Amino acid sequence: MRKVLIIGGGLSGLSSATFLSNSGYQVELIEASPKLGGKTYSFNYNGSKVDNGQHILMECYSNTLEYVDLIGSRKLFDFQESLSLTSVDADGKAYKLKVPKHFYPLNHLIGFLKYKLFTLKERVEIIRLLLKIKYMDEKEAKSKTLYEFLVEQKQSERTISLFWDNVVISAMNTKLKSASAEMFIRIVRIIFFENKRSANIIIPNVDLSSAFVNPAQNLINRNGGKISTSEKAIGFIVEQEKIISVETNKRTISDYDFIISALPEYGIRKIAFKNGVSRLKLPALEYSPIVSVHVWLNENPLKEKMYNLIEGEFDWLFNHGEYITLIKSSAEKLVTINNNEVIKIVFSELKKYFAIFTNIEIKEYVVLKEKRATFISDSDSIEQRNSLFNPYSNMFLVGDWTKTELPATIEGAIKSGKDVAEKIKML
Ligand SMILES: Cc1cc2nc3c(=O)[nH]c(=O)nc-3n(C[C@H](O)[C@H](O)[C@H](O)COP(=O)(O)OP(=O)(O)OC[C@H]3O[C@@H](n4cnc5c(N)ncnc54)[C@H](O)[C@@H]3O)c2cc1C
Repeated sequence: MRKVLIIGGGLSGLSSATFLSNSGYQVELIEASPKLGGKTYSFNYNGSKVDNGQHILMECYSNTLEYVDLIGSRKLFDFQESLSLTSVDADGKAYKLKVPKHFYPLNHLIGFLKYKLFTLKERVEIIRLLLKIKYMDEKEAKSKTLYEFLVEQKQSERTISLFWDNVVISAMNTKLKSASAEMFIRIVRIIFFENKRSANIIIPNVDLSSAFVNPAQNLINRNGGKISTSEKAIGFIVEQEKIISVETNKRTISDYDFIISALPEYGIRKIAFKNGVSRLKLPALEYSPIVSVHVWLNENPLKEKMYNLIEGEFDWLFNHGEYITLIKSSAEKLVTINNNEVIKIVFSELKKYFAIFTNIEIKEYVVLKEKRATFISDSDSIEQRNSLFNPYSNMFLVGDWTKTELPATIEGAIKSGKDVAEKIKML
């Protein structure tokens, strides 16, 4: 039986480990931290299981759905029947985007035509560009920022700031003025025009570890795989284009046919290459933070599962019943503010956006600042990722940052792990 050593237990590592172990490969996975999941993990707080940050998926995440089917966790996710979104403005006024279930792809256009956050002229402006993107070659927008592209496409300042900015921040965690227009066009096409369900939002109805990590761990164990946590790779011993051994903080491992590195690019850089310098050409990426605040209130009168907060200090509010979660993507400002100040902002935003909170009292909260949540999807990152070079014949690289043609997402991470598993099976 051929053996694969996987270094890194985030979703890309777990994806390759589950797909390979399910195809009869002997799999050993080592993870530096005491827990698996990498950037998707959960922990106990105030009697609840909470996540390091709310994650949302869409039905265009086809590789992710294959993974959750494999590990048997599909029932742990809530699927929308069709795209539906409630936006609330700073005066507490709610606007609903509701795409009809039938008549794809016209259903999206019907949904947008009824979206009263925008004037009729603005709705037509948005629809016109969505339709243009459907048939556009994204290379036409190569090297342009999304802002430059939108101005060129005659989008008004209001649709840019209230619609397009919202989409790009949520999908790419990157600001309009640096986001790659090429990447944006690609993902808008996938989301709105891949198939009739691709734009539907999916939210885990349990914590992230229960949805993505524990079932994968169980499957790998059932398939006879080995998982070691708190074991960190520290050195690669190289001989003629091969990594012949991996040194960890506990031992030296040499009994494998292939290695999969499932580390972030900044994680690989910390590994010492023995018998020579690293000949890997890694992308130099910049990162963008996400701030999540879980809040337990004295009352929770909210009806919907999620709200988009228009032009707020936070972008989204997720309602978990016993607690709520506020999210700020591309949170360069919030990440520098101390937690007492952050919670004051939460308090005033809740009062501003939701008049239903009459006697609002924050009973408990936890602020989570993920400084390197995702890499910034600008034009430079596309070039850098495309020039990734790996000369080692027995080592494969996976991770959301590899050549997935996607921004830093669960889908990119899981796709990279699955694609490499397929490659290994062909050898
Ligand atoms: C707050 C937040 C919100 C997000 N929201 C969304 C969302 O809504 N939708 C979405 O699709 N994506 C979202 N993402 C992005 C998504 O979580 C990531 O793209 C994905 O989880 C990355 O997985 P990965 O395996 O590529 O990397 P990682 O998760 O970074 O995994 C790398 C693993 O390698 C381990 N490691 C590092 N060095 C070593 C070493 N020397 N030896 C052994 N192990 C090592 C690390 O501990 C880690 O477990 C979000 C991310 C964050 C942080």
